Amino acid sequence: MTRFVLVGGGVASAATAAGLREAGFDGEIVLVSDESHLPYERPPLSKEFLTGTFAHTDFRVNQESWYADNAIELELGTRATDLDPVARRVSLSEGRSLTYDALVLATGVRARTLPGFDGERVHFLRTIADAERLGQRLAPGRHLAILGAGFIGCEVAAVAVARGLRVTVFDPGPVPLGRALGAEIGGAMGGIHTERGVEIRTGEVVSAMTETASGVQLRTSSGKLFECDDLLVGIGSIPNSEIAAQAGIDVDGGILTDEYGRTSVPHVHAIGDVASRFHPVHGRRLRVEHHEVAMRHGANTARNLLGASEPFAEEHFFWSHQYEHNLQSVGHFAGGGTRVIRGSIEERSFSVFSLENGRIRSVVALDRPLDVLHTRKLLAVPHEVTAEQLADKGFPLKSLLPRKAGARRSEART
Ligand SMILES: Cc1cc2nc3c(=O)[nH]c(=O)nc-3n(C[C@H](O)[C@H](O)[C@H](O)COP(=O)(O)OP(=O)(O)OC[C@H]3O[C@@H](n4cnc5c(N)ncnc54)[C@H](O)[C@@H]3O)c2cc1C
Repeated sequence: MTRFVLVGGGVASAATAAGLREAGFDGEIVLVSDESHLPYERPPLSKEFLTGTFAHTDFRVNQESWYADNAIELELGTRATDLDPVARRVSLSEGRSLTYDALVLATGVRARTLPGFDGERVHFLRTIADAERLGQRLAPGRHLAILGAGFIGCEVAAVAVARGLRVTVFDPGPVPLGRALGAEIGGAMGGIHTERGVEIRTGEVVSAMTETASGVQLRTSSGKLFECDDLLVGIGSIPNSEIAAQAGIDVDGGILTDEYGRTSVPHVHAIGDVASRFHPVHGRRLRVEHHEVAMRHGANTARNLLGASEPFAEEHFFWSHQYEHNLQSVGHFAGGGTRVIRGSIEERSFSVFSLENGRIRSVVALDRPLDVLHTRKLLAVPHEVTAEQLADKGFPLKSLLPRKAGARRSEART
């Protein structure tokens, strides 16, 4: 019987399993994860799970019965340790091994650490276990310092001030989220955090830490000392690509794949956060860490494992929630092209578009979800728009979309 082995307990792996069964595959599917939880979605870890709105059973990708009903064999709490692509065999942590007809590496990323930054009061956030540990420390009146004003740092800052903590965020850049979203959105988000009472210390590098009897002492590169109760380190991630590299698979800042998700060795695919995948629209490899992309990679790979040859050409979409604000983006935001702002920065409801040769390349929006929705559709079709039209809030982006055949017919009748 054909056996597909999926390594990883995240959304990419779970979506592959679901896609295979939905397409009628009736062979063996084994999902191997070094976490003991059923595959779960990570976005709530820095949001609803930390606020206490969700229990950890609320954001499973599927409930336990689904795996039994769909004959998905779960190897939880089991690490894939070694891979032999010639024998098509993957070794597991308990000394067992599994042969495969195809292997999918969906091993994700891990939190980047800093030498010397560890101890009881130092936190990272990638797993349920990390979030449970951090959540226990979020008591009113405590002081939380956060290294890194990226998504995780900013989302946790929002939760922590709402839970009554004093929060200080350090980042070497000029504005929070600047690398991912640009200066305008980053500046607006910095203002929102400051108004809520978060102390934002941009342009400041924390160079050392010491755990004291009562907390943590930080030293900045300018020599200033700073005391807090706990420290969250949110300074990015490292792809879990070692198993691929050791097997001789091409790796360069992620596991390299073509547009179909195939790695450099036969019968091994890589998807989700760990994959640096060739994107046919952008003409180069991109590694993105977004929930929806990981899920869609999984569905696409399931079809390709069953004989399709579908490139993954979708534009990347992601979101973030901080306080009552909703950030969304679609397209590859590389900071290039002409930047056009639609909406009002002062009112904190605006979208930043990249426009190139009359075509939208990406949008990042603060509380303007419809702009993102329409842009998402536009990115998939030919369109032409001017900077003036884009900047004009009254100009309907929807009007740039090709009209449906039915609408054209009824127009012709009138
Ligand atoms: C706190 C947090 C908040 C986020 N919020 C958002 C958000 O708001 N919006 C958004 O778009 N994205 C968000 N993301 C990103 C999103 O969660 C990821 O893009 C997504 O989880 C990627 O899924 P994946 O399946 O590729 O990898 P992962 O979810 O990382 O899963 C990888 C799995 O593989 C396991 N594994 C690794 N190596 C091995 C091995 N050798 N053997 C067995 N198992 C192994 C890991 O333990 C893990 O279970 C967030 C991420 C985090 C951490």
